[in-house]
Amino acid sequence: MSNKHKNDSRRSNIPQNNTSKKGGFDSKVNNGVFVYTRNMSVGELAKELNLNASDIIKFLFMNKKMVTINQTLDDETIGLVCLEFGYDFKKEKIVAEENFEEMEIVDKPEDLLPRAPIVTIMGHVDHGKTTLIDAIRNSKLVESEVGGISQAIGAYQKEINGTKITFLDTPGHEAFTAMRSRGAAVTDIVVLVVAADDGVMPQTEEAISHAKAAGVPIIVAINKIDKEGANPEKIKTELMNYDIIPEEYGGENICCEISAKKNIGIKELLEAIVVVSEMLELKANPNRYAIGTVIEANLDKGEGPKATLLVQNGTLTFQDYVVVGTAYGKIRRMTNEYKKIVKSAVPGTPVSVIGLSEVPNAGDHFMAFPTEKQAKDIAFKRSLLKKQEEQNASGGASLDDLYNRIHEGEVQTVNIIIKADTTGSAEAIKSSLIKLNNDQVKLNVIHAAAGAISDSDIMLASASGAIIYGFNVRPSAAITQKAEAEKVEIRLHRIIYDLLNEMEAAMKGMLKKEKVEQITGQAEVRQLVKISKIGTIAGCYVTSGSIKANSLIRLIRDGVVVYEGKIKSLKRFKDDAKEVKEGFECGINIENFNDLKEADIIEGYEMVEKD
Ligand code: GDP
Repeated sequence: MSNKHKNDSRRSNIPQNNTSKKGGFDSKVNNGVFVYTRNMSVGELAKELNLNASDIIKFLFMNKKMVTINQTLDDETIGLVCLEFGYDFKKEKIVAEENFEEMEIVDKPEDLLPRAPIVTIMGHVDHGKTTLIDAIRNSKLVESEVGGISQAIGAYQKEINGTKITFLDTPGHEAFTAMRSRGAAVTDIVVLVVAADDGVMPQTEEAISHAKAAGVPIIVAINKIDKEGANPEKIKTELMNYDIIPEEYGGENICCEISAKKNIGIKELLEAIVVVSEMLELKANPNRYAIGTVIEANLDKGEGPKATLLVQNGTLTFQDYVVVGTAYGKIRRMTNEYKKIVKSAVPGTPVSVIGLSEVPNAGDHFMAFPTEKQAKDIAFKRSLLKKQEEQNASGGASLDDLYNRIHEGEVQTVNIIIKADTTGSAEAIKSSLIKLNNDQVKLNVIHAAAGAISDSDIMLASASGAIIYGFNVRPSAAITQKAEAEKVEIRLHRIIYDLLNEMEAAMKGMLKKEKVEQITGQAEVRQLVKISKIGTIAGCYVTSGSIKANSLIRLIRDGVVVYEGKIKSLKRFKDDAKEVKEGFECGINIENFNDLKEADIIEGYEMVEKD
């Protein structure tokens, strides 16, 4: 180890006598609570609790449990013994050091200092997120502040009335939720931008759901108030339909009226962020080795892997050894958003670093260590762990194992995302599902909206362990693939009653083996020919699988099912065809339906028994 840490008083995040080491055994009595990490024998327990083993054996005997001194006791028995002899008890989970993101880092209250809040800006496209980010970035709030920011590192800090605020540069809920699905809860506060001349739009609604699913407070920035036709009051009323209640109406959400373009109300918005962050009492311990998250990373031609690290706890120092994702390295240079070299970064601070051995992913966790050996060992173990995890990855939840989980006795919260063809049906499904709640199962609809199942729905499901219900919508092939990769279950229905029945059956553990549909293929409508008496013939190109003459079909327009029925005739040139395969053209006439449009997708499917 170099002598750079000579005067280093920072605490290591992983104690040298880490309990996860093989054979490690750590238990202690703390304020009358017996804290232990693994089951132990009567003899061991007696020693830990300063008792005679014979007293424990006698007590258990009186309670009809015959044990010997070397017998390992289960948790229930350990609990009984503790209570009998005047101790409370708690079993602590051992987290292996390589799994450091799951480690519970506990700081003493006296070691904690306030830290900067981390803010993400979300909202509908064109409502002014980027303009707001720029307005804040370029605003000169304190005299001492250097003007504009000189390097884009994915995050930057602003100081307002002595409080620093960290802004993440990538607007939108996609980045936010992608991070969350990687287990990185970075954001403390969401600023929701709503254009005063436009109102609540689909992505506004999504952003609200994503922020709520993450449990992050929302400050509303009603933007573009300089525009004619801007109606902030109308926006506030609209937002109430989504449970965003402005403070002035007795709710919890501060609403600021701003113009990002004309620089109106920016200072007030920043002050509102300070107020909310003070309420959150965000604190961290600067006196330990740093822990945090990668905000963005790239390969710099000259300098190698370069990453922006957001320090969430502890202090990151020049020349620290860090493990990021599965790689490790030594911090060779650390700069801030003004390209200025910084020697150390306290909690809440983003810094751009070089010295890592590989380019990490945004959302990866990092931890700093006092020695290179420790960092290297842990990075190695993490890469093994990652391989294992990839083999049995699980992102979302599955309806199939719901009953098993209920059966294990815990109250289960089932997170659900609903995407339907209309807002009306999304709402109807939401309220009907909620009515199914009972003592054991809580159905929690985290997002319900009209429209096709999107990338961002999959990420939200993966981040929140949710099941997606599609009602009269069809996922595209790319979405289906993504859902599979993220292990997110998508259930598709056309009849609300069926959907509710299925959920009820799952809650009772009676999910039947049922007939499921198997998609045979898809064809794209390229040309339309209207023939009197026959109707519309769609000139199609089979884009995947095959279309069969006797199969059921559905017509999909922009990801939404507009019709379901049967094929009346399938032709190759002038001849009837039984089946037309991928890469070939065909003419399709749908029974009782002629309202086709170019670029519609005709999907063929069959009903088969599920195994
Ligand atoms: P984003 O898609 O949410 O990032 O939106 P942008 O920041 O790109 O803004 C979309 C458009 O709205 C741009 O033409 C901006 O100049 C304009 N815009 C943003 N904020 C304001 C504002 O406060 N007032 C007016 N009049 N226009 C704005």
